[in-house]
Amino acid sequence: MTDQAAFSIFDGHNDALLRVWRAGPGGESAFVEGGGEGHLDLPRALAGGMRGGLFGVFVPRPPAEPAPPDMDRAAKELSPPVSHDWAAQVAEEQAAILERLERISGGRLRKALAPGDARAALDGDHLACVLHFEGAEPIAEDLSNLEAWHERGLRSIGLVWARRNAFAEGVPLRFPASPDIGPGLTSAGKELVRQCRRLGMLVDVSHLNYRGFLEVAKEYAGPVVATHSCAHAICPAARNLTDEQLRVIRDTGGIAGVSLNLPDLNPDGSESTVGALGLIARHLEHFAAVAGVGHVGIGSDFDGCPMPEQVPDAAALPRIAEALGERGWKEHDIRRVFRDNWVRVLDQTLSEG
Ligand code: ZN
Repeated sequence: MTDQAAFSIFDGHNDALLRVWRAGPGGESAFVEGGGEGHLDLPRALAGGMRGGLFGVFVPRPPAEPAPPDMDRAAKELSPPVSHDWAAQVAEEQAAILERLERISGGRLRKALAPGDARAALDGDHLACVLHFEGAEPIAEDLSNLEAWHERGLRSIGLVWARRNAFAEGVPLRFPASPDIGPGLTSAGKELVRQCRRLGMLVDVSHLNYRGFLEVAKEYAGPVVATHSCAHAICPAARNLTDEQLRVIRDTGGIAGVSLNLPDLNPDGSESTVGALGLIARHLEHFAAVAGVGHVGIGSDFDGCPMPEQVPDAAALPRIAEALGERGWKEHDIRRVFRDNWVRVLDQTLSEG
């Protein structure tokens, strides 16, 4: 029997900053004190063993813009681009939220900035937050504000969401589909990837198309992460990772993190929650079989998508460890997937800045 309490977890992706931003005044204190809203707040994270994670800045479409028409998933196109000015404003506001959370948390929530910060949290009793952009739109095309963002604590950039921007192109949220849709990185995109490497920042390839993915691996020349993507061999969504992509991530020394987003888990692309824990385990096992267990992680996407009823929030994360234990996973391997792989990649990447 697995001692589930033994596993602290570093989670590759959540959108809690977006949820708190949308909540408006009072959102930060509800996050710190536990308001029962959404999937992730500080008390539920700590209760579930979550001691670290990438906290994404996500820029929704401006309020004045109409929602794109509802479309069949098989025909999904990219979402409309967002302007740099709007993205810069939202990023400023969401980064300020993380700074306020840190201030009012009494030391229970801290930004992760340097090698050792994630490990200290995983071995301790606070939550280490890596400030991350899900979509590089807040960065100026000439990269003139990149160093300022690094100084402010930004340590990770996902080049795109399901959009096109000045740097790269994402894949639409299409199912079934190959990730090989659209062009590779722009020259600004290649330069951004090289500068992230120089500064000691992660580059996240989740949502990126296939050509862009290959170019990131080449330009970054270091451990590449896909923070929240599932296995294309099990669920052929455009934003899931093919076996070839998993091997490329392995060869860079990086991590592929399985998300808990039902339409990216279910073989039929549905939102069915039946057998979700077994399905999460199957994706993790596929990643481990193709890339090796040293290159596998979990990126919940809490507050970014509907959660399976078996893992409704961060407090339920130990159920994943329990399910893996019941399937015969060794504790050592669960520990790698839950935390040690992330510690390795963060220590290696952040020390290079
Ligand atoms: Zn995402």
